[in-house]
Amino acid sequence: MRNKINILPENLASKIAAGEVIQRPASVVKELLENSIDAGATKITLIIKDAGKKLIQIVDNGCGMSEDDAVIAFQRHSTSKIQTLEDLEQITTLGFRGEALASIAAVSQVDMITKTEEDEIATKVSVEGIVIKEVTKTSFEKGTSISVKNLFFNTPARREFLKSNNVEFKHIFDVFVRIALSYSELEMKFISDGETVLDLRPQQLDERIVDIFGKNLQEALMLIENDPEGYERIGLSVSGYISKPDFSKKSRSEQFLFLNRRYIINRSLNHAVFQAYENMLEKNNYPFFILFIKIDPRRVDVNVHPSKLEVKFKDERNIYHLINSSVRKTLSENNLIPSVKFESLNDNIKIKFQQIFKKVPEFSSNKNVELDKIFVDGKSTDIQVDLIEKIKPIFSEEGNITEDEADKSNISLSGFSFTPPVCYQLHNQFIIVPIEEGMMIIDQHAAHERILFEKALVSFSIKNNVSQQLLFPHTIEFSAGDFAIIQILQDDLKKLGFEIKIFGRNTVVLEGVPVDIKPGNELTILQEIVDLYKENEYEQKLEPRENLAKSFACKSAIKFGDTLNQTEMRSLIEQLFMTRVPYVCPHGRPVIIKISLEELARRFGRP
Ligand code: ADP
Ligand code: MG
Repeated sequence: MRNKINILPENLASKIAAGEVIQRPASVVKELLENSIDAGATKITLIIKDAGKKLIQIVDNGCGMSEDDAVIAFQRHSTSKIQTLEDLEQITTLGFRGEALASIAAVSQVDMITKTEEDEIATKVSVEGIVIKEVTKTSFEKGTSISVKNLFFNTPARREFLKSNNVEFKHIFDVFVRIALSYSELEMKFISDGETVLDLRPQQLDERIVDIFGKNLQEALMLIENDPEGYERIGLSVSGYISKPDFSKKSRSEQFLFLNRRYIINRSLNHAVFQAYENMLEKNNYPFFILFIKIDPRRVDVNVHPSKLEVKFKDERNIYHLINSSVRKTLSENNLIPSVKFESLNDNIKIKFQQIFKKVPEFSSNKNVELDKIFVDGKSTDIQVDLIEKIKPIFSEEGNITEDEADKSNISLSGFSFTPPVCYQLHNQFIIVPIEEGMMIIDQHAAHERILFEKALVSFSIKNNVSQQLLFPHTIEFSAGDFAIIQILQDDLKKLGFEIKIFGRNTVVLEGVPVDIKPGNELTILQEIVDLYKENEYEQKLEPRENLAKSFACKSAIKFGDTLNQTEMRSLIEQLFMTRVPYVCPHGRPVIIKISLEELARRFGRP
C-alpha cells in the first residue's frame, strides 16, 4: 500500500496557520494595534476602506524597526518580545507569539514603512502571500506604517465568508474601542472611508468613556477604587468604573473586562459583577462596566487562545471574590436614591429622575451576617446602633418627635437616642419623610417588599426560624401541579416560617405562618405565593430560592392602600435602611425618591 502522509507545502501551511489568528479584518486591526502599543507608540491612527476589506492601515510613532528586523518580522515565530521559557511565563507585552505579521502577510498584500530613532532613512518592505517582493529605502518619521490590502485575496473561500460591511465595521469598531479604553493615555484616531469615526486625545479613563459612549453616561459612572497596594500586597487589584443601576442597558455589549490591560472574555468574572448588582436591576438589564484586573503575570496563562481572548487563571475564585466585593462596596457607598428634578419652570409637567452622587450611610459589604443577627433576635445590637448612627444624618433635626413620643413609638433602641421625624402617609400609598436635604417619598409596598425579601434570603441560611402558631390549623387543598411545587419548596417554606404538614393527596395542613403575615391572610397567602412563583419561574427563570423569596416578599408585604400609623411607618423606614439595598425593590424599581429643598424653592420661583 502506498503511503498517505505528505508534508504540506509552506504556502498552504502558512495559510492554514493564518486562519487561526486572522479570521476577519478586525483580527488584523487588533494585531496591528497591539504591535503599535508594544512598540511604545503614543499616537496611533487607524485608516480603513470598505470595512477593512480593501485597506487597513495603521500608522504609529513607536520604536520602528531596522531594515533587518523589518524583513525578519514577517517570518513565522519571529518576535522581539520573548526569548526563553521564563519569559513566556511572565508576559508583559500584548504580543509574543511572533505570528501576527506572518499570518497577515500570508493572506494579503502588505506594505510596511518603518524607521527607528537611530536610522537616517526608513525601510519599505512589500510582501504578498509570504513572499517578500521588494525592500527599498524611503523617507518617513520615526515609527511604523503598515498597509494591509485586499485581505484574503488568495483564499477566496475566506473572502466569501466575510459579512456585510456594516458587520465587519462593527467588529473593527469594537476592537478599536477596547484598546482605546485600555490605553486612554494614547492619542488615537480612527478614519473609515475618509470620515473620522473617533478622534481621541490622551485623557483620563472617565473622559475617554464619555468621549466614546456619550455624555449621558457621565452621571451614571461610579469609580471602583484602585487599590495599588492590593497589587503590592497580594499581586492582585481591581479598578475601573461601573454604572448606577438605573443606567443599565438591554444588552451585555457594554461590559469590558481587562486583564493586565488586555481585553478578555470571561463569563464567570462577568457574573461576579452582575451578581453584585443582584436585585437592583430589572430582568434582562445589564450594567455598563469597565474593569481592569491587575495581576502578577505569572498567575495567568494568556497562551490558551490564538487571539488571547480567553485566559486561564491559576486562582479564579480569588479574582471572582475581589471583583464581586469591590463592586458591592462601590454600590453601597454611593447614594443611589433617585432624586426628582423639575426640568425647568416653563416645562412644569416633566420631571426627570436623576441619581445623585453623594456619600450615604455606608453599609458594610458583608451585611448578610449582620442582617442575620438583627432579624433573628430582633434586639438592639452594636451593629444596629452603628447602622442607625450612619443613617441619622439623612434625617433632619427639625420636625423630630420628642424622646417621649419616640419611646411610645417603640423604636428607640436601648442606649441610643435616634428619633426619626414625623412621617406622613399619602393616600395610604406613599410615606413622606422630612430629611436633611428636603423630603423623601417612599413607596410603602416596595419598601416592605425589599425588607421581606432580604429577610427571606437570610432565613434560608439559618437554623431556628420563628413562626407564629395558628390557633386553628387550616386544611388547604391544592391542584396537583401546585401541590408538587409545595412539596419541592416545603423545606424553604418552613424556613420562612410556614409550618406545613402534608396531609394526603394534594392537601396540606397549615399550623403556623411567618410573623410578617397579616392576620386574616393565612388562608390565601400560600396559594398566592405559589401562583406568583409559577409566574416568575415561567417568565424570569429565577433560581428557586430567589423566586420564593421574591414571591413571598411580594405577597406578604403591606399593600398600596393599607393604612399605617406612625409606629408602623417609622419601623418600616428603620428596617428599610437596615437592608443591604434600600433604594431598589426586588424588581429593580425605585423604593425611595427624594426632592431637595433647592428643587422645591426653584419650583416656587424663589431665588
Ligand atoms: P509578536 O507581536 O507576537 O512579537 P508579530 O508578528 O506581531 O509578533 O510582530 C513581530 C515583530 O515585529 C515584533 O516582535 C516586533 O519586534 C516587530 N513589530 C511588529 N510591529 C511593529 C511596530 N508597529 N513597531 C515596531 N516593531 C514592530
Ligand atoms: Mg504582535
